[in-house]
Amino acid sequence: MQAIFDIVIVGSGPGGMSAALNAHMNNLNYILLEKTDHLSDTIFSYHKKKFTMVEPAIIPLRGALWIEPAVREEILSNLDEVAAMQNLNIRLNTPVTEIVKESGSFHVKTDAEVFNTEHVIIAIGTQGAPRKLGVPGEDLPHVLSRLNDPGMYSDQDIVVIGGETQLSRSPSPLPTKIELRCL
Ligand SMILES: Cc1cc2nc3c(=O)[nH]c(=O)nc-3n(C[C@H](O)[C@H](O)[C@H](O)COP(=O)(O)OP(=O)(O)OC[C@H]3O[C@@H](n4cnc5c(N)ncnc54)[C@H](O)[C@@H]3O)c2cc1C
Repeated sequence: MQAIFDIVIVGSGPGGMSAALNAHMNNLNYILLEKTDHLSDTIFSYHKKKFTMVEPAIIPLRGALWIEPAVREEILSNLDEVAAMQNLNIRLNTPVTEIVKESGSFHVKTDAEVFNTEHVIIAIGTQGAPRKLGVPGEDLPHVLSRLNDPGMYSDQDIVVIGGETQLSRSPSPLPTKIELRCL
């Protein structure tokens, strides 16, 4: 008979990691499923050295997970350390494809396995489906919806459509000669 988990957590961002740590500390039978090969893909995809948690906190942080103002690399390394030191039950490379409720419990499905559980925490953030413009050409390989390393684009002509967060907080800004037009 297959194990029945108390909780299956989907996604290893700050939300999912906090849930896993708290489940662990409360001796619950849990597993966290993450679709990528690393923790916290949204933060992983920030541009290099991005300073994070710079906004005033409107909702106070809860739970045991350490999150403080820091650069991307420090936050990622801290999450890896927490996962290793606490021996959290995390499965990478495991995208959840379907969740089915049956007789009061859930079947959380991946391509290879089904995880049976009493509760599910869906902590997949919003970056799995970034907002697109819906115009022809946006799927071309040189059109990006994430800016991981602004330095890669120095001396290139680029068009930026919308740019509040990534441009204004970049530590290694886009090329110094910028022709800026607000439309
Ligand atoms: C460019 C950028 C800059 C930001 N800067 C800041 C900042 O300075 N300060 C701040 O407080 N916040 C900032 N944010 C927001 C912050 O990153 C998010 O609020 C936070 O990451 C949300 O955490 P989360 O746990 O809800 O989801 P996420 O961090 O988005 O994590 C979701 C996880 O779920 C996984 N996942 C998705 N689908 C599946 C699936 N089907 N199966 C398994 N796993 C799945 C993803 O791979 C990912 O690892 C920024 C966001 C972006 C995009």
